[in-house]
Amino acid sequence: MGLEEKLPNGILLASVEKLVNWTRKSSLWPATFGLACCAIEMMTTGGPRYDLARFGMEVFRASPRQADLMIVAGRVTNKMAPVLRQIYDQMPEPRWVLAMGVCASSGGMFNNYAVVQGVDHVVPVDMYLPGCPPRPEMLMDAILKIHAKIMDEPLGAVRAKALADSGYRTDLIPSSERFAR
Ligand code: SF4
Repeated sequence: MGLEEKLPNGILLASVEKLVNWTRKSSLWPATFGLACCAIEMMTTGGPRYDLARFGMEVFRASPRQADLMIVAGRVTNKMAPVLRQIYDQMPEPRWVLAMGVCASSGGMFNNYAVVQGVDHVVPVDMYLPGCPPRPEMLMDAILKIHAKIMDEPLGAVRAKALADSGYRTDLIPSSERFAR
């Protein structure tokens, strides 16, 4: 007889990993950070009609130190890139990034000298969401996919991700110098 069959009704078994991931995904707090037209859809998603609060996300944090999800909602200009990176650096681990819309994902129609051709040149991206702009339902779907990704993350992966991210940052240095000009 397995252990689960010996336990009385009402007792659940889970791994620490699953419990930690469940608490993380159930209280993802986005940083208050909008860049362009996609941000209007992001704000709508937080309103009563779409009710992002259902997923434990009712608080968009004004301080990146209290946020663990960066929704890059809109195009990122070269001038804005170092600021975006600084906000990301101020967010505590573990943290996740969602590139919302085609501009954040790849530069979109703004294929020019002023716009970063994808925010993944500046920060590591966990989820790319296409559309111009993506509807609130699409944003919620992407967020739920991040939830699923969090549930599958081994605990050690957070540390590995942080280390990989520090390597990423080193790679970024030449770009940062370019942004500063
Ligand atoms: Fe605006 Fe479309 Fe770019 Fe979003 S993807 S920032 S809606 S132009």
